[in-house]
Amino acid sequence: MEHDLIIIGGGPAGLTAAIYGARGGLDTILLEKGVPGGQAGQTHMIENYPGFPEGISGMELMMKFAEQAKNYGAKIETSEVQKVALKGQTKKVITNNGEYTARTVIIATGAHWRSLNIPGEKEFYGKGVSYCATCDGPFFRDKKVAVVGGGDSAVEEALFLTRFAREVKIIHRRDTLRAIKVLQDRAHDNPKITFYWNSVVEEIIGTDKVNKLKIKDVKNDTTREEDFDGVFVFIGTEPNSQFIEEDLTLDAGGYIVTRGNLETSIPGVFAAGDVRSKDYKQVSTAVGDGAVAAMSAERYLANLD
Ligand code: NAP
Repeated sequence: MEHDLIIIGGGPAGLTAAIYGARGGLDTILLEKGVPGGQAGQTHMIENYPGFPEGISGMELMMKFAEQAKNYGAKIETSEVQKVALKGQTKKVITNNGEYTARTVIIATGAHWRSLNIPGEKEFYGKGVSYCATCDGPFFRDKKVAVVGGGDSAVEEALFLTRFAREVKIIHRRDTLRAIKVLQDRAHDNPKITFYWNSVVEEIIGTDKVNKLKIKDVKNDTTREEDFDGVFVFIGTEPNSQFIEEDLTLDAGGYIVTRGNLETSIPGVFAAGDVRSKDYKQVSTAVGDGAVAAMSAERYLANLD
């Protein structure tokens, strides 16, 4: 059966597109490989999404988005997309559960955490190496942990980790943070957080779990080992665009390039949220993207009929 709209990815952009698509009367199906919510769903507390003056847990907010999409008749299916064939009027999406077809597709697959690619990182993943403070923070009660990175994610997650850990070291390769000022101020004011500036982690060392980091001071070119119980890596993201056929225009980082109406280089195919080439990756901007992409899909379909 051919749908009007297939949305790939169930984070804030995809779920918003599902709300708009289904409410706009399109036969809408959203394919998500895991639990809806994406990276936002793993965020302990979202403080800058309007409408929730006390903040709201990422998971709770995303569950509300999904409920709203379903209320309007969007189908949400657990399927992992393996391949797409997007050119032509009928778009094909091949998943581990079979093939789906539609006249429009919105790609909202988001991004994943970038890894350091250093010795020990893969080996100790889940054994002290983590990319999710909300998921793994409680395992580090009274422990000493490192957070690598200097952006909003690193600082926000470091602050969250102070609820559990006795000591949190932010290890940053420069001597100034990229994170917004309000987060910087909170980190500087938190007695559990200290910084290693101009420093990079070269190796993660352990036996059955992490117990040391090899840290290089890049200014004076010295390397030392220091005891740590865990390391959280927040050094930015990479787009989940690997399954996309080559004809779709991507930027140098692999993010999907779109026009103002969020249409990609293939007619009828739109991109929304963190997988799209843009500045300011926020839940609120992903929501805006999802709405624009769905309305553009609607208009595209109206012009076809
Ligand atoms: P980001 O802003 O790209 O920051 C990545 C950080 O990691 C930078 O400080 C960078 O250092 C460092 N880094 C990159 N590669 C590295 C490497 N190989 N080794 C060591 N350090 C490395 O990423 P992000 O913090 O994940 O944020 C992504 C987007 O989400 C941003 O737009 C951000 O504003 C947004 N976000 C917003 C919130 C919020 O509003 N509360 C929360 C989380 C994320 P340099 O500074 O030297 O480049």
